[in-house]
This record gives sequence, structure tokens and C-alpha cells, in this order.
Amino acid sequence: MTFEYAPAPESRSVVNIAARYGLFIDGSFVESSSGATFPTINPATEEVLSEVAEAGADDVDRAVRAARRAYEEVWGRMPGRDRAKYLFRIARLIQERSRELAVLESLDNGKPIRESRDVDLPLVAAHFFYHAGWADKLGHAGHGPDPQPLGVAAQVIPWNFPLLMLAWKIAPALACGNTVVLKPAETTPLTALLFAEICQQADLPPGVVNIITGAGETGRLLVEHPGVDKVAFTGSTEVGKTILRSLAGSSKRLTLELGGKAANIVFDDAPIDEAVEGVVNGIYFNQGHVCCAGSRLLVQESIADEIVDALKRRLGTLRLGDPLDKNTDIGAINSSEQLARIAALVSSGEAEGAERWSAPCDIPERGWWFPPTVFTGVTQAHRIAREEIFGPVLSVLTFRTPDEAIEKANNTPYGLSAGIWTEKGSRILWMAERLRAGVIWANTFNRFDPTSPFGGYKESGFGREGGIQGLGAYLTKEVTR
Ligand code: NAD
Ligand code: MN
Repeated sequence: MTFEYAPAPESRSVVNIAARYGLFIDGSFVESSSGATFPTINPATEEVLSEVAEAGADDVDRAVRAARRAYEEVWGRMPGRDRAKYLFRIARLIQERSRELAVLESLDNGKPIRESRDVDLPLVAAHFFYHAGWADKLGHAGHGPDPQPLGVAAQVIPWNFPLLMLAWKIAPALACGNTVVLKPAETTPLTALLFAEICQQADLPPGVVNIITGAGETGRLLVEHPGVDKVAFTGSTEVGKTILRSLAGSSKRLTLELGGKAANIVFDDAPIDEAVEGVVNGIYFNQGHVCCAGSRLLVQESIADEIVDALKRRLGTLRLGDPLDKNTDIGAINSSEQLARIAALVSSGEAEGAERWSAPCDIPERGWWFPPTVFTGVTQAHRIAREEIFGPVLSVLTFRTPDEAIEKANNTPYGLSAGIWTEKGSRILWMAERLRAGVIWANTFNRFDPTSPFGGYKESGFGREGGIQGLGAYLTKEVTR
């Protein structure tokens, strides 16, 4: 039996988007010195949401100086219990304004409101609450009895979880006594700018948080600025390598969180229905724009047909469309460039001989969309088995023995995450010991918590974010002054 859903749109009137935004430097919104701006677009409608200032070299310099002053005069000397008060205040304001932030995130990014409201925003608030709690207890976090902040942190983030990646960067930096200059991605700057307003509302001292908007060149100017003590980057492996090269020989501390090509491994004793839900959540969550997405399904040969049939049946029920509709499962692809990258990799899969299946769904006329897609008959040599697609596309491979599963799962330059589905606890431990991945989920996938460190092996980057390990990325054991 099938039935139609009535539209259930979340109201967009809860957000007030300005026609133009300046840069947030030293506690105020200011124009960029060149006056240059760029548009940010709603990927579900292609409508321009706002014009945003583009920061050049002068502006980056102003922001770094403001952060330095705030570090030396205020934030770096403030007792942890006082920093905690500001962080708790920010966390509460995020909760109070979470509906507004969720709608704005869905408008600028294209992700379903169900996810921005129920996943992104609760995690953003949790991240600030968690780190607020650490601010006056840093001597008990395993980084020495009196760990010190590093200074000014330059932080560059991607477009897939705009506000959540901001929280992952800003909350630990501030808790540890650092000040920050953060650059959001050029396609999703709006929630970071609303966060700047929240910093004003929380009376955060000027210069502690600076938000500068712009594209890759602005990011490059920021991470290469000599006044920066620490660089934290999340994004593509290609840009991560560029940053690593440009920082070589400097004394800047660096953490990189880059791409992934995770294996989600299903054994024949796994509960099939739960595993299928986990596979769906692993790769179709957030349109597959997830660095730790389970983009390679490794399924034990004897149950491969059963799993793939169940998966296709389930994908047939997903609803693609208006991100602001509360019943939407699959939203818009964030940009036309990303859609072109996905389409090119999918074409390569077809050309190399894998078999493509896409869920039959109506694609809206405007905006950028890609239907949930499954490739079977994939070999390890295919590009779709090796390269990060960063879209709602799953490559299915099979294995016979646990050894073969490990061999195939680890056959990747990446190592961010992995999933294991089996009834046997001993097998979970045996597998987890051998998988070269920073995060391993067992009988679940894509679960996040601020207490749990996150980060990669190999070309997925280095350093950890979250938990007491993540605090270490913003602290030094030596007394710096
Ligand atoms: P990107 O790495 O180009 O962009 C990420 C951020 O880095 C953005 O804020 C961007 O403006 C900035 N940036 C770009 N060039 C820079 C430079 N030279 N120096 C400093 N900052 C710079 O990622 P993208 O172009 O948005 O996406 C490309 C691919 O990267 C995707 O298809 C996907 O495979 C991968 N990706 C991974 C993640 C992740 O979370 N690991 C996030 C986004 C994209
Ligand atoms: Mn946008």
C-alpha cells in the first residue's frame, strides 16, 4: 500500500536574512577593505539568499590582529571559570535560537530540516556545553597539571556541516583559552554569521571570535598569516596537502580532518533489517556529504543479494525534495560544482562496467539534486571504489572471510571510519583491532558525541577533535609566557 504525504513545510519566516553581510572582526560587522562581495545560494531553489563580504589580505590581517589583542589582553589571561560562563551562555543561546539556526542551515546548505533540527543543532549545543565544562578543569584532562593555550587559531571549515564544524573548531579553542579567526565555506556562510550575532548577544569580549568570509584564497591567506599559532582545517585531502606543505618549517601547530572512503562491513549473521537501516544512514544521511560516510558496502557473499534487494526496497521509500519539508529524507546537493563531481564519478562507474541503480524519484525542476544510487558489480580497481564521491552513491563489494573483509576495507589511502555489522562481539573486537580507521562503529553508523574523539589515519588527516584528546590540539604543556 502506498499513500501520499501532505506537504509539511517548516516556516522560513523564523529567519531574518540580511541582503548583505560584512565581516565579523573585533566584535563588529565591518565592510571588507576592497568592498568585494559574493552571493550565497539556496541549492534547492538556486535563489540568491544574500551577498557576503569577501575578505582580502588586509581584512585577514585585521582579523588576526584583533584575535591577537583579545588573546593577550583578555581571553588568554581570563580564569577558566570565567571563560566557562561565556561558553555556557553561548550554548544556551544556541538552544534558544535553534529553530532559527536549523532553518537557516537548511536554506543555505540544502540539508533536510529533519537533520538540521534533530542532528546538527543538538550536537552543536552539546559541543559548547561539553567544552564549557572543561574550561576550568583543563589541569585534569591528561595534558599536564597546568596546560596553556596556544594563542590565535586559524580555522577553515567545509560546507557539509557548516555550524557543526564551527562548533567542533570554536568550542575547544575557546575553552582552552585561545582566540580564533574562522572562515566558513563559501557556499554556506550564513549560520557562521548568525553565530557571530550570538557572540555579540553573549557579550563575548571583542576579538575572541572573528568570522571572515571568502573562498579558497581567503582561507590560504588566513592559514599562511604569520600571526597565527595554530591551524585547524576540515575539507578535501587535496587542500589539506597544500596547507601541510605551506606550513612546513613554521612553528604553527596543525590538525587536518580530510576525506574518507569508509567500509561498512556486513556479516551473514547480522540482523538484516537493522543493517540495511545502518547502511542507509551511513551513506544517504546528509546527501552523502559526509567525510566519514560508509560509501563502500562490504557484504558477505552469501547474503549479498538479500541485502541489495532490501536496500533498494528501502531506498524506494525515501523522499527527495524541499529541504524545509519535515518529511524530506534527501535534500539538495550543496552546489552545482559538487553535483558535477558526483555526476562525473557516477559516469566513470558506468563506463568501467559497474551496474548502476538509482531510486525512482521525481527530481524538482530548479535546484541541484541527485537520487540515492547503488552500484553493484564493483571491483576494487573502479574509481567509485577508490575515490571519495561525497554524494548519495554507494559502491557494493562482496567478501567471503573476515580476513578478506579486512584486506578490502583497508585497501584505501583513507582511514577515517568503518562500520561492522555482526552478532558476534568477539568478531567485532577482532575486526576493530585490524581496521585502520580512526572511528569504528559496531552495529550502528554515523553516531557522534562531543566526548568521543574523531579523526583519521593516512590521507584522512591527523589530530583528533572532541573528547579530552581534542583538547590537546589547543593546548601546550609548556608555559608560553
Ligand atoms: P575544499 O577543501 O576545497 O574546501 C574546504 C574549505 O577550505 C573551504 O572553506 C574552502 O574555501 C577552503 N579552502 C580552499 N582552498 C584553500 C586553501 N588553499 N587554503 C585554505 N583554505 C582553502 O573542499 P570543496 O571544494 O568544498 O570540496 C571538494 C571535495 O572535498 C568534496 O568533493 C569532498 O570529496 C571533499 N570534502 C571533504 C570534506 C570533509 O568533511 N572531510 C568536506 C568538504 C569536502
Ligand atoms: Mn548556500
